Amino acid sequence: MITSTVCQIVWFAGLVGWYVIRYPFERRAKKVGVNKSFFGRRESGLLALAFLGLWLVPLLYALTGFPAPLDRPFIPAIAVLGILVLCGALLLFYRSHADLGKNWSISLQIRDEHRLVTSGIYRYIRHPMYTSFFLLAVAQVLLLPNWFAGLAGLVGVGILYTFRVRQEERMMLERFGADYRAYMAQTARLIPWIA
Ligand code: SAH
Repeated sequence: MITSTVCQIVWFAGLVGWYVIRYPFERRAKKVGVNKSFFGRRESGLLALAFLGLWLVPLLYALTGFPAPLDRPFIPAIAVLGILVLCGALLLFYRSHADLGKNWSISLQIRDEHRLVTSGIYRYIRHPMYTSFFLLAVAQVLLLPNWFAGLAGLVGVGILYTFRVRQEERMMLERFGADYRAYMAQTARLIPWIA
């Protein structure tokens, strides 16, 4: 039986899965030196906001039911859709890590021997990892039957994405020049052929 409690457990299991997927890639990438970094207060603030929206607000809701006045009806079909979207998010998260390899970083960084990746999932979109963040946040809306706890992730991810994507593309243009410009002309940011 799918209930609200089951959905909360699925949500936190998904978040744990998220870190399990990332861990081996993070370990490998950390062995490669960083050539240029934009990691500072602004980036830490953005990451903290996303963490707050995806982890802390849902945790508070799961433990205390806060804010109860913003509860919405629990609809099993919506919850099942949430599970499917969560699986899609995890799959895309894995794929983008596998394709980006040692060029990945949690923040905006150019690594030593940084290579421009244009293959795999990166053939279709420039920011598949951010697409997976958005899918994760949509799954949160579908799984948690509370407007505040549900939408908190979308707000956090939306702010992170909005303040980061242009700076990231500027950094990539500075490093890869015409190659990145051509790559931009061929790809969409988040949704293949659309946006
Ligand atoms: N925005 C990408 C990557 C997120 S990880 C995505 O959503 O999939 C962030 C780091 O990835 C950035 O610091 C940047 O150095 C690196 N990066 C982004 N796009 C890249 C690409 N096409 N090839 C190689 N590195 C890339």
